[in-house]
Amino acid sequence: MQCPVCHGQAQNLTPNTLDGVVISCALCGDYRIAGNAFHDFMRLKAEKRAAALQAAKQTSHSGWPTIYAAAVAPRPAPPRRVQ
Ligand SMILES: [Zn+2]
Repeated sequence: MQCPVCHGQAQNLTPNTLDGVVISCALCGDYRIAGNAFHDFMRLKAEKRAAALQAAKQTSHSGWPTIYAAAVAPRPAPPRRVQ
């Protein structure tokens, strides 16, 4: 597959059990995009995608750096309501 951040050659490492996509890229490293963030992430401009990945790397302490929906949403997500 193509890396969504740098458009280089990348591998899809997503486990069947995981919500989202895990990408292994020679340039960007291994990272994860949450399932509900993927669509918005792909709509971002290239530099915003790179920035979101950079932010994810800085805030992740274990496992894959993960890009969450809140990081790529066009505006801050409203508080989640309890139903
Ligand atoms: Zn890449």
